[in-house]
Amino acid sequence: MTQKEHGLDPEDWHATRQQMHRVLDACLDRMQDARALPWQPVGEAERAAFQGLAPSTGVGLNAVADRLMDDIMPFATGNTHPSFWGWVHGSGHAAGFMAEMVAAAMNANCGGRDHGAVYVERQVVDWCRNIMELPHGAGGLMVTGTSQATLLAFHAARVRALEGTALEVAPPLTAYALEGAHGCVTKALNIMGLGAGALRILPEAVGSEPEARAIDADALRRAVKQDREDGRLPFLLVATAGSVNTGTFDDLNAAARLAEELGLWLHVDAAFGAWTRLADTKWRGLSDGIGTATSIAFDFHKWLGVPYACGMLLVRDQGDLLRAYSGRGAYLEGQAEGLAGGEPWACDLGLDLSRGFTALKVWATIQAYGTDRLGEVVTMNCRQAAQMAEVVAASATFRMAAPVVSNICCFGMVDPVDDWKLAKVAVALQLEGQAVFSTTTIDARPALRAAITNHRTRRADITAAIRAAEEAAKALS
Ligand SMILES: *Cc1c(COP(=O)(O)O)cnc(C)c1O
Repeated sequence: MTQKEHGLDPEDWHATRQQMHRVLDACLDRMQDARALPWQPVGEAERAAFQGLAPSTGVGLNAVADRLMDDIMPFATGNTHPSFWGWVHGSGHAAGFMAEMVAAAMNANCGGRDHGAVYVERQVVDWCRNIMELPHGAGGLMVTGTSQATLLAFHAARVRALEGTALEVAPPLTAYALEGAHGCVTKALNIMGLGAGALRILPEAVGSEPEARAIDADALRRAVKQDREDGRLPFLLVATAGSVNTGTFDDLNAAARLAEELGLWLHVDAAFGAWTRLADTKWRGLSDGIGTATSIAFDFHKWLGVPYACGMLLVRDQGDLLRAYSGRGAYLEGQAEGLAGGEPWACDLGLDLSRGFTALKVWATIQAYGTDRLGEVVTMNCRQAAQMAEVVAASATFRMAAPVVSNICCFGMVDPVDDWKLAKVAVALQLEGQAVFSTTTIDARPALRAAITNHRTRRADITAAIRAAEEAAKALS
C-alpha cells in the first residue's frame, strides 16, 4: 500500500487565485478608505472569536479569507487614519504593502548565503549609511526596530570596551545619557545583565536648548572619572535625536566631542528623528552631526510609513558587529561559490539566524517615492505640529506643555483643577473615532501628546481635532 503524500499547495489554483484577489481588493479598499476607518474597540463577541483550541481540521483558504476580511481587518490599530498621532506610529502606504506581498511570496531567508534579497538589503544599508553621513566601511543590518538595534549596538560596544576580556570576569560597565532617553536604553542594559543602575542620567549644560540639548560636560567628566576610580568601566554615551516624549534633540556634535575625549562609544537613538536628515533645513539641522556616531538606531516603521516591523542598526565600523556576533557552526559553513557564498552573512552582524526580507519594503518605499518626497512628509508633519501649537496657544481650554521642536506637540489644561479631564478626553476622542492622542506627564502635570508621523494628516485635521478635544473637555464639566 502506498502512503498518500501531500503538502500544503492548493489543488485548485484557479480558486485560490480568486480568493487571493478578493483579499487583495479588500486590502486596497482599506488603504483607499483610510479616512473612514479609525480605530474601533474589539467587542466581546469579536474577542470570543479568538478563544479555544487550534483546529485539527482546517477550514480552507476561502473561509480564512472571509475571516480575515470580516473579523480581523476592521480591528486594526487605527494608525492608518489621518488623525492618528498617539505614541509614534507610522501610517503605511502602497509601496510597503506591495513589497510585503512579494516578500511573502519569495519567502527569502536573509540570514545569509548568496541570493538576490541579500543584495537588496546591502543596497538599503548603503543608502542609509549615506543619508546618515557615515563613512564607507560603516555597516549594519535590518532589525525589527530601534529596541533591537539598541541592544545589538550596546553589546557590540561592550565587546569593544572589553577588548577580549571574557564577559565572566568583566568589570561592571557604566553608560551615560541625558534625561529623556527612551526606555529601550534601560531595557537593553537590563538584558545585558548590567542593570538599570549602570545608566547614569546627567544634567544638561546651563543654557541648553531643546533643539540642541548638551550634556553638562564637567558633570560627565566627573562621573566617568569617579566610575573609573571605583573600578568600573565607562563604555557608552547615549544621545537622542528625537526624544520620544517631546521631540527634543541632543547636540550630536557636542556629544561626539565628549565621547572622543572620554573614550566612549557614542550611540545615537534616532528612532524617528533620523528622518529629519531628509527634511527642510530648519528641521534637518536638528540631526546635524549624526554622522559622528559610533552607532545609530532608527526605524522605518515610524516616519517612513514602512509596514511593521522594520528598523535598522548602523555602525561606524562594520568590524564591530563582526567581532560581537560572528561565528558559525559546521552546519553553516560558507563556500567560495554557489548558494553558500555571499559573505559576510547577516547572521554574523546581529542576533537572528533566520531573517525575513524586511529590506524589500524599505527598498520599494525609497524607490517609489524618493528621498525628496519622503522628506516633504517629514517637513509637512513638523509644520503641522507647529500649527497644532498655534491652535492650542489660541485656545481658552488648553495650554502648551512643552515647546514644539520637531513633530511632537504636547498640551495640557489651562487650569490645574481640570487636569483629571485629559485622559478622559483622549479616550473619548478615540472611542468616537475622531482622533488619537496619547497621554503623558510633563513637569509633573498630565498632557495630551501628538507625535505626527502621518503622511495622511492635513491641516484641517489638526484644527478639527483640537476643536473636538475642547468639546470633549467641556462635556466633562
Ligand atoms: C519608538 C522609539 C524607540 C523604540 O523603537 P521600537 O522600534 O519601537 O523598538 C526608541 N527610541 C525612540 C526615541 C522611539 O521613539
